Amino acid sequence: MICRQQIQKRFLANSVAVLLEGNGSGDALTGNNKNVITAARKMSDNVIGIVLNKRLSKPAGEQLGLSKVFAINGKADLRLSENACEALKHVDGKIKPDVWMAAHSAFGKNIMPRLSVMLGIPCLSDVIEIESDNQFKRPIYAGNAIASVQCDAPKKAITIRSTAFEPLTSGDKPTESEEIEAADVNSTSQSEYLKLESAEQARPELGSARVVISGGRALKTKEDFDRLIGGLADSIPGAAVGASRAAVDAGLAPNDLQVGQTGKVVAPALYIAVGISGAIQHVAGMKDAKVIVAINKDADCPIFQIADYGLVGDLFKILPELTDKLRV
Ligand code: FAD
Repeated sequence: MICRQQIQKRFLANSVAVLLEGNGSGDALTGNNKNVITAARKMSDNVIGIVLNKRLSKPAGEQLGLSKVFAINGKADLRLSENACEALKHVDGKIKPDVWMAAHSAFGKNIMPRLSVMLGIPCLSDVIEIESDNQFKRPIYAGNAIASVQCDAPKKAITIRSTAFEPLTSGDKPTESEEIEAADVNSTSQSEYLKLESAEQARPELGSARVVISGGRALKTKEDFDRLIGGLADSIPGAAVGASRAAVDAGLAPNDLQVGQTGKVVAPALYIAVGISGAIQHVAGMKDAKVIVAINKDADCPIFQIADYGLVGDLFKILPELTDKLRV
């Protein structure tokens, strides 16, 4: 017997269109798509995947819990959000979803606000809980308070905090794929896509890694950042590297490794913060980690207030010793 509560819980919208995100080179899906699909499936059993890059039409056949995947076949450069949104507006007219959804990543944040303005619909950002078809929860004040938001509009755009939803483990059936022609997209963009400079690393994706080792301003040089933070990460299987904004601003680490309010939000099993003071903007991006370890020479710095384990001392002495011990 299906009780009323279950029905209300699962089928809140006729259909949800999920913008599927690709990795830096654009040929594979990023891990966070599975978390967004979990969120989408809380709203509807008709979840449609949209890919903006034809090379990503690969999800066809994969068990992603999607009813269908549409790959947009446009002439304009769809890596630019101006063009992508024109194409998505065209797709909206064809598939008419009740909800547009994407990860609250740089990709989703670049597209969803523009799309919602073009469609004249509200945009709810950084949603961490879907309570009903019109009630959502989202963090505010850098995660220090959680707002319950009511949105009565029948159609809406939503960005999802991926770490707040479990990744979909297996869809019910292989996904069918189809191309949507959006050749009539006129590029009105005054921008030109030049290139993407990303931290090409052999390490796992920051957003979905089990272990994250982050370095702060205290590392001082890029060489030391790579040697000490990278060295520690290499000694722990499945570890990704992150950085504070001060470290990114100082050129110690690339921008896409930034953890925090204006960077990535991570929730790994283990987060090791090295030479990071624990400013609220940094903490907003990592406080949901299951175990937090902090290494800092200042025993009074705020990171120790949220750390499960703290090591007070000089990172330049502690890190090589720790890395050596872990390598054994
Ligand atoms: P610091 O605050 O300078 O801390 C360095 C720490 O290293 C100190 O605690 C010091 O005791 C310790 N240290 C120094 N030498 C050693 C040593 N040899 N061994 C051990 N420890 C040592 N920050 C983010 O990280 N992510 C964000 O997304 C972000 N968004 C922001 C958004 C806004 C709107 C604003 C205003 C700020 C934002 N910030 C963000 C910046 C944030 O406020 C802090 O400035 C930043 O997090 C500080 O980085 P840090 O901890 O590396 O540097």
